[in-house]
Amino acid sequence: MEVCRTVGALRAFVAERKALGHSVGLVPTMGALHEGHMSLVAAARSQNDDVIATIFVNPTQFGQQSDLDNYPRTEAADCAKLEAAGVAAVFIPNVEEMYPAGAETIVETTGLANMLHGLVRPGHYRGVCTVVTKLFNIAGADNAYFGEKDYQQLQVIRRMARDLFVPTHVHGVPTVREADGLAMSSRNVRLAPEDRKAAVVLSRSLAKAEEVAAQGGTVEAIDAAIRATINAEPRARLVGVDIVEALTLAPIAGIPQSDIGIMISAEFGPEDNTVLLIDQREIAK
Ligand code: AMP
Repeated sequence: MEVCRTVGALRAFVAERKALGHSVGLVPTMGALHEGHMSLVAAARSQNDDVIATIFVNPTQFGQQSDLDNYPRTEAADCAKLEAAGVAAVFIPNVEEMYPAGAETIVETTGLANMLHGLVRPGHYRGVCTVVTKLFNIAGADNAYFGEKDYQQLQVIRRMARDLFVPTHVHGVPTVREADGLAMSSRNVRLAPEDRKAAVVLSRSLAKAEEVAAQGGTVEAIDAAIRATINAEPRARLVGVDIVEALTLAPIAGIPQSDIGIMISAEFGPEDNTVLLIDQREIAK
């Protein structure tokens, strides 16, 4: 597996592979890789000749400096996993490489980014879109893979790619979970053991939501079931429950008339070192 640390090195690698007639799949990550990331790699492997993974903890998508500073960094272990999974090249740039002095251009979806989770974390999706656009432009991949776990992020990236005529096709990959149902996340390692146990309340509340929806429940009833489940867990601080129209993320009410997306977020741990966890479910009409 080739390790590229500069834009030039990755471009040269891709040019070589494309000259051989290979298709290229891109898997952007922030590292601290777990089975969720590896399922994106597996999807990319199954649909492309060569897979490029990227590891970059993107400062512009973090709100709090402490969250950025505390983000786990496990480069050697990540590279071993990627190599074992058959990744052709990994791109590990530093901040100066991605944001050279004087960098001032941003990419923003003006509607989708400034609702829901984007309101809790202002500027987050602008940071995501800006860095993903850079990665798309550097890699020139045929396909790129993103997790459904970050549901709003996936819809934002799809919209950005569509609006800017990005030639890379964006694919969503289902959420990979721990045995008890907790969505895998690089942040899970920061949970104290008791909070780790309590965090299962997120996926449990989504299972409740599915039950209510299956019984023909309204959006309001689904919302109430989620809130009641999470609020019954004293270690969880509910941040948000959003039940929206799946593609547009538009608010809905009453009996769902289309596929719906449910996004939930909750905080765990002490006030000065909180861990924000999110989960998601799409329920087909
Ligand atoms: P991150 O490193 O957290 O930025 O995640 C990189 C990519 O992996 C994003 O597209 C995420 O949506 C995806 N991802 C993270 N966790 C999971 C999971 N549990 N299952 C599937 N995809 C995931």
